[in-house]
Amino acid sequence: MKLKENKITNLCIIVLILMIVLASSIYFSKKEKTLGKIYFDKPASWEHVYAYLYDSNTQTTSEQISVSELKQEKDYIYSYEITNHMLKNLDNFTIVFHSDIANENPNQYRVEANFEGYNKIYHLQYGIGENNTNTIGEWLDYNENINIGKIPTTENKIKNVIYMIGDGMGENHILAGQLYKGQTLNLQKIKDKTYVKTASTSTVTDSAAAATALSSGYKTNNAVLGKDQYGNNVENIMEYSNAKGLKTGIVCTQILNHATPAGFSIHNEHRYNYEKIAESQTQSFIDIMLGGGRNYFSQYEQNMLNNNYKWINHLSELNKIAQNEKVIGTFANESISKENIRTPLADMVEAVIPRLENENGFILMIEGSDIDTYSHEGNMAKMLTELIDFDDAIKVAIEYVDTHPDTLLIVTADHETGGLNLDGVTSKQQLQDSLFTSYGAHTETNVLLYAYGNSANDLTKYDVIDNTSIYKFLKQGLSN
Ligand SMILES: [Zn+2]
Repeated sequence: MKLKENKITNLCIIVLILMIVLASSIYFSKKEKTLGKIYFDKPASWEHVYAYLYDSNTQTTSEQISVSELKQEKDYIYSYEITNHMLKNLDNFTIVFHSDIANENPNQYRVEANFEGYNKIYHLQYGIGENNTNTIGEWLDYNENINIGKIPTTENKIKNVIYMIGDGMGENHILAGQLYKGQTLNLQKIKDKTYVKTASTSTVTDSAAAATALSSGYKTNNAVLGKDQYGNNVENIMEYSNAKGLKTGIVCTQILNHATPAGFSIHNEHRYNYEKIAESQTQSFIDIMLGGGRNYFSQYEQNMLNNNYKWINHLSELNKIAQNEKVIGTFANESISKENIRTPLADMVEAVIPRLENENGFILMIEGSDIDTYSHEGNMAKMLTELIDFDDAIKVAIEYVDTHPDTLLIVTADHETGGLNLDGVTSKQQLQDSLFTSYGAHTETNVLLYAYGNSANDLTKYDVIDNTSIYKFLKQGLSN
């Protein structure tokens, strides 16, 4: 009798467990999962706006989005959540926004969406239609991700990263450098290459937004460092690497608190907050930072001490500092390129790499900063001097990768500066200031990206990638 009762109890327990498993599998299969959010600037006049997801394959409307479902994030910024259920059979869809306000000045609105690794921004052009439902814009093709292109991936484990950025270095800057030098540049010896789109939330980026995209994978507004367009801090690849135990370094020719090195180390709403940026850098985790900017950092000497930074003013002092000490080196009052006797970028790179090497790996960002400065000024001779200084440093990096194949070397630019036009130019003598055509402005031209070593052909497998994709690629390679 006792035995029989036990059997019945056991059977009951088994049935109960089966029911729980079944119920929870039904529950979880039905559970809505948020895939991402659409963000957009909603002007005050958009009281009657509505939007829908339009299935581009079946040409049917699948989901209405009403204004009342929008969540206000701040001021005019609204968001709308997209769930897996909305997209379940949609691999190709359009989001269409309508407004019934006919008489509004044409203006640009912005929509941004994030879907599991995809990050798209579409600029909506408000159009005045014939009736009261104007199509303001449409956002296309979830799978093809037309706005940023395909994101390259890698299955390799990347141990070390050397990430080199020639500020303002367009493709023609490189070709001008080749003509000037009379031979192939070190950079041009790298065979894996692709093109990179450079737009920020504006068509033409500045160096701050570009640095944020290159370091953090987020497009942001010009002048913004390490924050998205809504003002939220975003993780950069240095922070990610530091958390994983890699050593981190920054080397540049400009002041250390300039846009590019700042975009790889701190978060600030404006690149011209030079004092605050320098202060934040003296409180950072970056193991070594070498560049110019003594005039800014001298006031934070105590800060550097408090945060265990050794502060040096000549590269020769570096070998007197123990390997495990953090270092800030300022080798010029302002930019290194303005000094009569300058510290070559190659020398700084050569001195830094052995200090960063360790079993967990390292990431080093190197900027040839003043290629941009002299392109703004339309000064060909000085631009070429900076380009060659940068190319000499590339040689050091290439040689390191040759003996350390677990390292990935990336050489790219944040944008082109000066609209350098080499049409009909075939000799060094023809390299004149007048070849700069954009009156000292940045341009929207795609820039080149060269990759060498570990995962180089994975990073360059598509013809064009977006500047935000590099961060995603590195994060994946470092985490494999
Ligand atoms: Zn720049």
